[in-house]
Amino acid sequence: MPFNWLKEFHQDMAKQPDYAEKTLAAYRLGMKAKGSIRAVRIEIDEEGCAASRLLDANEEYHPDNAPRLPLPDCAKGLACRCVYRPVMAYEPKED
Ligand SMILES: [Zn+2]
Repeated sequence: MPFNWLKEFHQDMAKQPDYAEKTLAAYRLGMKAKGSIRAVRIEIDEEGCAASRLLDANEEYHPDNAPRLPLPDCAKGLACRCVYRPVMAYEPKED
């Protein structure tokens, strides 16, 4: 996938303290704009903390209800690589 480098770049950056607010706000706008974004999902840090492994990677959240990242009890804090991903409206539903 040609944009893999971009994805990895984003994951390797430490998060800003307002990561959750900013990112969820952007997805909230994306949901309003043309309805191209249906929800957000959490891509879980493969070497992540115990807290993140309890998350369901298939769960779709409304930005208002999504767990805040990094998780409050994440051992890696702002270095956590759990990230939000948009779920596009055209994607088939899991399950
Ligand atoms: Zn974590």
